[in-house]
Amino acid sequence: MPKANETVLEIDLGALTHNFNHLKSKLQPKTKFLAVVKAFAYGSDSIAIAKHLEYLNVDYLAVAYAKEGVLLRDAGVTTPILVLHPQPINFKLIIDHCLEPSIYSIRVLETFIEVAKAQSQKEYPVHIKFNTGLNRLGFWENDVALIASKLSKTKAIKVKSLFSHLAASEDINEILFTKNQIVSFKSIAEKFKSKIGYNPWLHLCNTSGIINYHEGHLDMVRSGIGLYGFGNSTIEDAQLKPIASLKSVISQIHQIEKNETVGYNRAYKAKDFEKTATIPIGHADGITRIYGKGKGFVFINGQRAPIIGNVCMDMIMVNVTGINCKEGDEVIIFNGSHKASHLAESAGTISYEILTAISQRVQRRILTD
Ligand SMILES: *Cc1c(COP(=O)(O)O)cnc(C)c1O
Repeated sequence: MPKANETVLEIDLGALTHNFNHLKSKLQPKTKFLAVVKAFAYGSDSIAIAKHLEYLNVDYLAVAYAKEGVLLRDAGVTTPILVLHPQPINFKLIIDHCLEPSIYSIRVLETFIEVAKAQSQKEYPVHIKFNTGLNRLGFWENDVALIASKLSKTKAIKVKSLFSHLAASEDINEILFTKNQIVSFKSIAEKFKSKIGYNPWLHLCNTSGIINYHEGHLDMVRSGIGLYGFGNSTIEDAQLKPIASLKSVISQIHQIEKNETVGYNRAYKAKDFEKTATIPIGHADGITRIYGKGKGFVFINGQRAPIIGNVCMDMIMVNVTGINCKEGDEVIIFNGSHKASHLAESAGTISYEILTAISQRVQRRILTD
């Protein structure tokens, strides 16, 4: 792997292939696979990731917002794309780009039918979202009759799938709650199917659902974090490969005396004669101020160097006292062995957040397999 001489986020498509095959091996052969590529494919590169998944024959893709789907269509991605959280203002854009909306309320259903009719659509595919306990987006069970009656009055749209989302699929303390969500989704789906007289696909599981709840796999699963190399558990993490490595370089080394301070607000004070390294990555790149004052760390020549003082917009300073290093040496913020999930935990957050925070200013470098 090439050595970094500036800040770069390397994306390893070989690791993506590995994770995709690993997750698929947990499914029945007939269960379809939807890859969630929202938020720039969890902070990596949604075009490169979507194209590679397409090459791996993924069945479906999903994004959160319409414009994320437009970006993929403009790049030539042809796989069906579910838009998980669309807004009515984008419904024409959605239809123009062959994106498929999640329909989560009566207002959204009525507006989408109107727009589909105005665009002279026939049986435009939509996905009906039910709330089974996350209480975030979705219809309730007692909306089924009303949805069915609205659907019976139009040919402009057709229900491709019914879905719901688990609230705590990674949490072993919530097994009963999760099993209850699965049962309740299945019962809503049965009721819905009997009202509309055809069989849309059913899907419910995210990555941790795939791993922990085989009875919830149904017709399709939706995986995000697992594809990017994290399984929300030590056992699964060991079998998945993080696809992203965030690397940088030492810009400058400083030798400081006892009681000298480092960075804005003089937030770090040297305890002795110390050595610091300045790295060209800051909160504008996604290393938020939460990682300052010793919470976060990087690796230099295999050794852990804590972030000292406050994180600046464009740089961090790390303590390299006792570490053999010089200007120009490579710095690892996270990679396959120094995992992003560990760095995230040290600041009280989760892998999802640190990955998606890496801003567009950081250059992406795609490594093919
Ligand atoms: C983001 C998202 C997923 C993916 O979840 P992971 O835990 O990353 O696998 C699946 N379904 C919905 C509705 C989502 O919003």
